[in-house]
Amino acid sequence: MPDAEYDRNNIFARILRNEIPSTRVYEDDEFVAFRDIAPAAPVHLIVIPRGEPPTSPAGLTEADAGMVGRLVLTAVRVAAEQGLSERGYRLVMNCGDHGGQSVAHLHLHVLGGGPLGPVA
Ligand code: 5GP
Repeated sequence: MPDAEYDRNNIFARILRNEIPSTRVYEDDEFVAFRDIAPAAPVHLIVIPRGEPPTSPAGLTEADAGMVGRLVLTAVRVAAEQGLSERGYRLVMNCGDHGGQSVAHLHLHVLGGGPLGPVA
């Protein structure tokens, strides 16, 4: 699955530009975390890189290794800030249509706040 061309008008690009409102829970120079509009768990956050990252995990290259590591570390930090560390949580990165991906801007889901069901 080759990486698609980045669409500057995808929903997360518009959230980054504040053209679409979102409830941000964390941001720094590289990443923004906000609440998912249709939560699949009591706490459901999306963590995204700023800028124009690969559209999906399939588009990642060696050059992205550091960014992906920091993305995961940021998600772990935000999960802790949201009080999820004690009982645990799930990190999910969907890829393509069979993976259930609907927004073509690399992102990591943080799901928690209660017991989750099976992975799929
Ligand atoms: P995906 O299915 O691509 O892995 O995840 C995309 C997520 O973005 C979905 O969980 C969906 O609910 C969320 N989402 C879609 N549109 C919006 C929006 O306008 N605002 C926010 N906060 N989340 C959105």
